[in-house]
Amino acid sequence: MKRKDGIPLATVLRKLEKIYTPPKTFLYYRTPLDLLVAVILSAQCTDARVNLVTEKILYPKYKTPEDYLKVSIEELENDVHSCGTFRMKTRSIRGMCTMVIEEFDGKIPDTMEDLLKLPGVGRKTASVILSAIFDKNLGIAVDTHVMRLAQRLGLSTYHDPKKIELDLMEAAPRKRWREVTTLLISHGRAVCTARGRKCGACVFKNECPSSMVRGKGDLAKAKKSMKRSGRCLL
Ligand code: SF4
Repeated sequence: MKRKDGIPLATVLRKLEKIYTPPKTFLYYRTPLDLLVAVILSAQCTDARVNLVTEKILYPKYKTPEDYLKVSIEELENDVHSCGTFRMKTRSIRGMCTMVIEEFDGKIPDTMEDLLKLPGVGRKTASVILSAIFDKNLGIAVDTHVMRLAQRLGLSTYHDPKKIELDLMEAAPRKRWREVTTLLISHGRAVCTARGRKCGACVFKNECPSSMVRGKGDLAKAKKSMKRSGRCLL
């Protein structure tokens, strides 16, 4: 649900697209498999760290799903170690590669239903793959930046990424769903950061329901009430 004093998403997109020209995704990749691995690694990790690991270590070494299964678990764990939660991510990558080989003839599937069958792949990952690789807008990828911006701008009162995604999908035409993610991420990195709101320098400073210029509190910090009920009560 959008807050009454939230900014219309169309206005948000119109203002942000004058400032940013984001890529399809902020993760480096050459093949659909590369991107799938990169998105799995990006959980609770910065894109910059993932890009460092994939470009320097993984992509030169692992080119097919079979390559990820040829090495020992320990070797792959070591290769992805600096991305955090390396055991779980190694398990997901190997499980995903096994299923891609056994059930999808070695090819990354191109439907939401099939992508969600892969170990380690949730809606966010599937949306990124479908949008960046297959040009299909079947969902809106909600990462921590998108979640924070949606809350601060009053685009959604929810804390649950799935509910935030539904609010954003309802507010934007399908053809703009990818830009919703990339534009919000761009603004979340440059101005409305996790560490602090630079409201004085923000294009939304006079209308945002979390604007410090307007003496407003940070709606993304209303976590206690949101966690209790699944939505923000402010
Ligand atoms: S006004 Fe402040 S809280 Fe609102 S989007 Fe801009 S930086 Fe974020």
